Amino acid sequence: MEEPDETRYSRQVRFTPIGRDGQARIRTARVLILGCGGLGAETANLLARAGVGFLRLVDRDVVELSNLQRQALFDENDVHEGLPKATAAARRIAQVNADVQVEAVVADLDSSNILGLLQGIELVIDGFDNFEGRYLLNDACVKLNLPWVYGACLGGGGVAALLVPGVTPCLRCLQPTPPEAGLSPTCDTVGILGPAAHLIASLEAGLALRYLVTGEAPRHAAMLSVDVWEGRLERVDIPYLPEEQSCPCCVGRRFEFLDAPPPPAVVLCGREAVQVHPAVPAQPDFRALAERLRMVGEVVVNEYLLRLKLPPHELTLFHDGRANVLGTADPALARSLVSRYFGI
Ligand SMILES: [Zn+2]
Repeated sequence: MEEPDETRYSRQVRFTPIGRDGQARIRTARVLILGCGGLGAETANLLARAGVGFLRLVDRDVVELSNLQRQALFDENDVHEGLPKATAAARRIAQVNADVQVEAVVADLDSSNILGLLQGIELVIDGFDNFEGRYLLNDACVKLNLPWVYGACLGGGGVAALLVPGVTPCLRCLQPTPPEAGLSPTCDTVGILGPAAHLIASLEAGLALRYLVTGEAPRHAAMLSVDVWEGRLERVDIPYLPEEQSCPCCVGRRFEFLDAPPPPAVVLCGREAVQVHPAVPAQPDFRALAERLRMVGEVVVNEYLLRLKLPPHELTLFHDGRANVLGTADPALARSLVSRYFGI
C-alpha cells in the first residue's frame, strides 16, 4: 500500500524532473516569504501544497475586504476577525497541509530585523508591495549568499526572476537605485488584476520549486514578463557580467540599504497619529501623485502639503517625504498606508 505522502504528492513525483529524490528535497526545504499579499500568499499556498517542509511568513498588515478580489488564501471571516495576514495565511495553510511547519511573523521588515528572519532559510520569496523592501532584501541576500525570487505585479501584468548571488545579476545590477519615492504607481493607486497576481505568484513558485529540487539557477538567467490583459509573454535574458558591471552591491559589496538605520516612525504624543520618515530621501511630485490619488479618496494639495482623506485615516505628505498619518497609533499600519498610497 502507498504511504499517505506518496499519494498526496504522487502527481508531482511522477513529473520526471522532480521524482522521489526531488520530493525528498522539497520536504526538507526552508523558505522565507516576505509579504502575504497577492504574490506572497499565493506562492505560500502553492509551496505548501507542493510539500515544502518549512515556511516562514512575514507581513505587517491585516486582511482587508479589498484583498479578497485576488488573495485566494483569505476569506470574509478573516476580514471580520481582523486577522493579520501572516496569521490568517498560516492558519489556512495548516488546514491545507498539516505536514508543513509554518511560522507566522507579524512584523514591519526593516534593516534591524531582516538578518534574523533569514536565519535557517535557504530561499526567499519576494511578495513585497514596495521597492524599499526589495532593495533591503537584495542587500541581505547578497551579503549572506542566499538566492531569492524577485516578483512584482501591477495592473494587468508583472515580472518574476530567480536571483542567485554570484550566478545571476542582483537587483541593483538590473536597476541600480529604487524609483524615486512618490513617483512609482502602487496597486493601491492604479489597481491590480487577480489573474495577473496569480500568474506572477505561479512563476515565482515554479522558479522556487525548480531551485529547491536542482539546487541551481537555470543556465540562462532570465526575467519573465507577462501581461494577462494584453496577452503578452516575454523572456528577457539577464546575463551576469560582474567584470563589466560596477554594481555597488554584488561587486562593490556595499550594503547601503542594509547598513542604513531603520526609518523612524514616531507616534505623535497625545494623538492618534504617527509620523513616518522616508527610507531614502524623497522629493515627491505632488501634482503627479494627486492625479493618481483622486480615484482613491479626497485629495487636498497646496504649496506645503498633499492630504489624502481615507476615513478613518488621513495621510498628509510634506515636500521632504515626511508623512503624518492620523487615525492610528500603530507605526506598522502608518508605514504601510504611506507605502501603499504615496509609494514611499
Ligand atoms: Zn549586483
